[in-house]
Amino acid sequence: MNNRQLFLQHLGQTSESPLALEIERAEGVYMYDQDNKAYLDLISGIGVSTIGHRHPKVVEAIKSQVDRHLHLMVYGEFVTAPQVQLAHAITQTLPDSLDNVFLVNSGSEATEGALKLAKRHTGRSKVLSCCNAYHGATMGALSVAGGESLKAPFLPLLPDTHQIGFGSPEDLEQIDDLTAAVIIETVQGEAGVRQTDSSYFEALRARCNKTGTLLIFDEVQCGFGRTGKFWAFEHYGVTPDILLCAKGMGGGMPIGAFISSKNIMHDLTHDPILGHITTFGGHPVSAAASLATLRVLQSEQLISQVAEKEALFHSLLKHEQIIEVRSKGLMMAVAFDSFERLDKIIHQLLEDGILSDWFLFCDNAMRIAPPLTITKEEIKMACNKILQAIDIVC
Ligand code: PMP
Repeated sequence: MNNRQLFLQHLGQTSESPLALEIERAEGVYMYDQDNKAYLDLISGIGVSTIGHRHPKVVEAIKSQVDRHLHLMVYGEFVTAPQVQLAHAITQTLPDSLDNVFLVNSGSEATEGALKLAKRHTGRSKVLSCCNAYHGATMGALSVAGGESLKAPFLPLLPDTHQIGFGSPEDLEQIDDLTAAVIIETVQGEAGVRQTDSSYFEALRARCNKTGTLLIFDEVQCGFGRTGKFWAFEHYGVTPDILLCAKGMGGGMPIGAFISSKNIMHDLTHDPILGHITTFGGHPVSAAASLATLRVLQSEQLISQVAEKEALFHSLLKHEQIIEVRSKGLMMAVAFDSFERLDKIIHQLLEDGILSDWFLFCDNAMRIAPPLTITKEEIKMACNKILQAIDIVC
């Protein structure tokens, strides 16, 4: 059996119809299949390869850590240089109140940790999340997902979880003094790139302050430079009590974090129970890769170029079949009139060597979230191919 057959036969699948493309190697903004056909990566493995595939600084950091040691001990028992250096570097990018970083393996685990922390800190159980939100695939994260179809087969999930409208000030009344936390993506990803505004975030912050509720911002998809600021919440001038990150944070390696104040974080661990245990969380190799990623984002001025590249996409993606282009930085959704049309365009683009994608909760929009390292020439080429693909299939 070839690898594709083995893939279909023996690998657990996430969807009924996976793309099943076999990639031989990846470098920068390109992936190459076994026939050396190049694919321009417009989605970065869903917001992961923010600084491109196999950035030399990340590869170097990984190799150097592999030469020292791999996993040593359950997270949090030993002083491990890459972990503490990374935690320190992350806090340097944040307001003083976010000074304690709990490293985990993934975005879902970051959500789980944050929910546990919020319950433990407040002694409350009620959690509010937003319609069309996505916070991960584990049971707690699924409980705060905003898509009923995703949750239905797994009910009952966590009790006392409720949805409010994303950016709906009228729903803020539902935050009361029984509410442990509100969890919200600063920019909604899987909803198809949906944004709200500063006045909503200010009202949300004020309501949380008034009721003693913790505010959790999920920046798993929109953090680490994706939107043109290091953290998406910088656009809105409102600071959360707990911040989640993963995906782009690892430069292609698995890692995530939930971040809070030392004061709040302390409540996760005090007696009589252990708060959150993770064997591989903050794996030394992932932590080293993440630190290198952070340094690259800071030293290569990638974030400051995001707005210009975003504007270029907007100026080029003009076609009568394109209904709307929504974006926050290089987190973009290109909307068409139907799923059928979109599906054909995405498959045509794959033929043409352009990798784009669908969203979980928005069936008529194409995901565009390329590595921030994409050049203007590559953006022009990609947009031309998108317009051509639309003409071919429409
Ligand atoms: N939160 C958000 C906003 C996400 O987009 C995702 C992944 N798409 C997650 C959490 C879950 O992350 P992971 O797949 O690493 O568990």
